[in-house]
Amino acid sequence: MQVFKTRESIYNHLQDLKKQQKTIGFVPTMGALHEGHRTLLQKSYAENDITVCSIFVNPLQFNNTEDLDKYPRTIETDMAFIDSCCDILFYPDYSEIYPDTPNETFEFGNLETNLEGAFRPGHFYGVAVVVHRLFNIVNPDKAYFGLKDFQQLQIIKSLVEQKNHAIEIIPCEIIRESDGLAMSSRNKRLLDSERKLAPIIYQTLKQAADILKNKSVEESKMFVKNTFEKHKEFSLEYFEWVEPNSFEITNVQKPLTVGLIAIWLGKVRLIDNIIVTQ
Ligand code: AMP
Repeated sequence: MQVFKTRESIYNHLQDLKKQQKTIGFVPTMGALHEGHRTLLQKSYAENDITVCSIFVNPLQFNNTEDLDKYPRTIETDMAFIDSCCDILFYPDYSEIYPDTPNETFEFGNLETNLEGAFRPGHFYGVAVVVHRLFNIVNPDKAYFGLKDFQQLQIIKSLVEQKNHAIEIIPCEIIRESDGLAMSSRNKRLLDSERKLAPIIYQTLKQAADILKNKSVEESKMFVKNTFEKHKEFSLEYFEWVEPNSFEITNVQKPLTVGLIAIWLGKVRLIDNIIVTQ
């Protein structure tokens, strides 16, 4: 795996490869890599001539300084972990991505104002800016994003349309621990006692999906609320059913409905989701 630190060096190198008709797959990450990230890379590795991974903890998308400070940074282990499924690592310093003050503009509608957009003001602007800039540096044919961050994936699809990036966005399934907890770099920050409770999140989502199918949106939401009220370690931020394309919160089951949750477990904020088709 080759490592590039500057945007000019990686841009020039990838342009040379493109002239040789090589296809490029891209997986942007913030590091502290786990099996979820590696699955994205393996998919890219199988589908493209060259796979590029970026590791950049993007301050612009953190609306909470404690979360940014505590974000795990494990570059040496990350590099060893992805060596067999990645050709090129882009590991830039802050000034490479932000030589100037960001002034990009986007129009995300409901995606920016609902759920994650509402609870993490400015978060998706930060995501859009960094991904837009990374796309302009890497110029991939395909870019891989996890369904774990469902709303983010919709943001990226919209970004690609708005800025006319000629990039195919590939959604990738959520990779979970054997007990169902969605893998996340933040899981490392859970205390042992909290980690034991964490599988309740996905169990509850699955039960809520059953209630949605057999009863109603209202009852499934009440079930989720009541479940987490039983455990003082949890603090539910939101649980909603949305129609994925409009990203409108819905009170009835649609042909395709996604249940999205954000929940604090101790001092760690976790997100997960479940897709329900009729
Ligand atoms: P992050 O480093 O958290 O910004 O994530 C980088 C990419 O990995 C994003 O596209 C995430 O959606 C994806 N990702 C993170 N965790 C998982 C997971 N458990 N399963 C699938 N994709 C994931």
